Amino acid sequence: MLYKYQLKTPTENLYPITSQVREAIQKSGIQSGIAVVYCPHTTAGITINENADPDVVTDMLLGLEKAFPDRAEFLHCEGNSSAHLKASSVGSSVTILIEEGKPVLGIWQGIYFCEFDPPRSRSFYVKVLAGEL
Ligand code: ZN
Repeated sequence: MLYKYQLKTPTENLYPITSQVREAIQKSGIQSGIAVVYCPHTTAGITINENADPDVVTDMLLGLEKAFPDRAEFLHCEGNSSAHLKASSVGSSVTILIEEGKPVLGIWQGIYFCEFDPPRSRSFYVKVLAGEL
């Protein structure tokens, strides 16, 4: 089953989407399988990281900015190559195990939609598949 979600991203940030993923899994009724969370954008991505200390998200954004700063040598006419590099570094999807109708996440783990080119109206998908791998 495929579920589509929309979100507005006013600033460059990591937006928590764990509750939407839990909802999609619950709606599917699937007890055991996998969920793929996918972002169909080239300057945004999906990642899993700590959801307890908000400073982790702040530090991740700082680290990505240091790793992929805007550079005068970039050729891309849209002028957002830094955002493209950040998006590819985090990736466009994550796969999550499902057991007993719930995502198998560590106690500190949260799922994030990563916006690197705000402001935008964005979407992401959750594909829920039943079965043993
Ligand atoms: Zn671009």
